[in-house]
Amino acid sequence: MLELQDVHTFYGHIHALKGINLTVGQGEIVALIGGNGAGKTTTLRTISGMVKPRSGAVRLNGRDIGGLTPHAIMQLGMSHVPEGRRIFPQLSVRENLEIGAYTVRDRKAIAERIQQGFELFPRLEERQKQLGGTLSGGEQQMLAIARALMVDPKLLLLDEPSMGLSPKFVEVIFDIVERLNRERGTTILLVEQNALMALSMAHRAYVLQTGSIVLTGPAAEVKDNSEVQKVYLGA
Ligand code: ATP
Repeated sequence: MLELQDVHTFYGHIHALKGINLTVGQGEIVALIGGNGAGKTTTLRTISGMVKPRSGAVRLNGRDIGGLTPHAIMQLGMSHVPEGRRIFPQLSVRENLEIGAYTVRDRKAIAERIQQGFELFPRLEERQKQLGGTLSGGEQQMLAIARALMVDPKLLLLDEPSMGLSPKFVEVIFDIVERLNRERGTTILLVEQNALMALSMAHRAYVLQTGSIVLTGPAAEVKDNSEVQKVYLGA
C-alpha cells in the first residue's frame, strides 16, 4: 500500500532522513521506533506531504505522491494524527470533528462519521459541546484520532499517540487502534516512544537511528533483538 524508496529529507542543511526504505502492506500495523531526533516524525511528515523529500520516492498504491500537497494526499485515503495532537482549542469537540471532514462534501457521510467517532469514544459524545482546549490530554488524543477518521482513511499515520497519557488512557488509545485495524481493516503506521506497547501490537517494525533504518522485521523478532531490548526496552 505504502512504499518509501531511498527517501532523503532535509531541513535546510540538516539531513534528517538518509535513504529510508520502508513498506506498509494493506491491513498491517507497522511500528516505527527510535530515540529522540531519529527522524520518526520527519518520516510521517514526508509521507503525508507536510515536508517534501529531496530525493527518493513515496508511493501510495503504486502512485508517486512525493510532489502532492497534504490535502491531495488526504483525498487519496491517508490521514495523519500529528505529534502533540493539534486540535483546535477554541472550537468545540463537534466543531473539531467537522473541521476534520473539510475535504468531504457529503453531509450525510459527515454526520455518520461523527456518530461513528462517538461510538468509538463515548467520552467525546458526552463532551461534544465542550471546547477542545478544556479536554484532558487523553481526551484530546481521542479527539485527534476521531478527527483523523472523519475522512474514512485507508491508511492512518499516528505520531506518538501515547505521549503524556496516563496508563489508563494509553490502554484506551491502543485498544482503539487495534480495533480500527481488526474491524475496519485500517492500515496503520505507528510512531511510538513506548516501544514495548508498539511492538506488542504491531505486525512488523522498523528501528530508526539518526535518519537511517537500522533494523526491521516481524515485531516479535524486533522485540527480542538484544540491542532493542537494551536501548528501547530498558532490559
Ligand atoms: P522525537 O521523538 O524527539 O520527536 P523524531 O525521531 O520524531 O524525534 P524528528 O522530529 O523527525 O525526530 O527529527 C529528526 C531530525 O531533524 C532531528 O535532528 C531534528 O532536530 C531535525 N528537525 C526536525 N524538525 C526540524 C525543523 N522544523 N527544522 C530543522 N530541523 C528539524
